[in-house]
Amino acid sequence: MGDDHDAVARFRQRLGLPGLIDVHTHFMPERVLRKVWAYFDSAGPLTGLEWPITYRHEEDERLALLRSFGVLRFTSMLYPHKPSMAAWLNAWAADFAARTPDCLHTATFFPEPDAGTYVREAVEAGARVFKAHLQVGAYDPNDPLLDPVWGLLAEAGIPVVTHCGSGPAPGKHTGPGPIARVLARHPRLPLIVAHMGMPEYGEFLTLAERYPEVRLDTTMAFTDFTEDFMPFPKAEHPRLADLGDRILLGTDFPNIPYPYAHQLHALERLDLGDPWLRAVCHDNAKALFGV
Ligand SMILES: [Zn+2]
Repeated sequence: MGDDHDAVARFRQRLGLPGLIDVHTHFMPERVLRKVWAYFDSAGPLTGLEWPITYRHEEDERLALLRSFGVLRFTSMLYPHKPSMAAWLNAWAADFAARTPDCLHTATFFPEPDAGTYVREAVEAGARVFKAHLQVGAYDPNDPLLDPVWGLLAEAGIPVVTHCGSGPAPGKHTGPGPIARVLARHPRLPLIVAHMGMPEYGEFLTLAERYPEVRLDTTMAFTDFTEDFMPFPKAEHPRLADLGDRILLGTDFPNIPYPYAHQLHALERLDLGDPWLRAVCHDNAKALFGV
């Protein structure tokens, strides 16, 4: 753990960064998090991947760790897998943000009749970022029940981190097609494609090139773990450089099967230069969230 901490500190110091901004970290009600961990524990048989959680600690210890890494701002990504759950998760996240000033107040939604109402309430309560998970939620983002949600987020300019790629496991509504149809109707939606859109990397980069408010988070991309089974194509590296102002550090802390520093090392070895790293690990998110 000490080595991990030192490696992160060296990375920040070398780049002269005041700290990191991590747009994709998970904090959620304890019993939900236990279920997520149980899922990863059993993911081996499902995906053929062993997924040991590196930071399986109590909440206060996880917070202390992130801060010790020099993470200035982070999120509490949470998401429902069924109806009548999102409003309850949002209440928890509002309370978490209130007692955790360095957490960007996060909220979520599900296609259900009151989605427009509780999303508006979350925005009015100060939500800065939303999370949508199309694989776990198993819903079509074009469900008419979500029309008011996408419209509101596009109008208010509030980013929504969306797990819309088909990795590590595909879903009925994952892949670039469904979310591209949402963007066609809401071209100003500040969509953040989680995990760089793995494994459909190139197609999601195309969406970012087409829509100026589309960004991607680095969560788990480029790491040894992911490169083993969903490698990022070398031929796409120039597009990463060109979209350097649209890529944001995300990690999936604490649910990662390797140390936090490895995600940073994975970005560093892309060899896209220090200004690119500074933008991705701090400056882009700072500008987006007005930190
Ligand atoms: Zn995640």
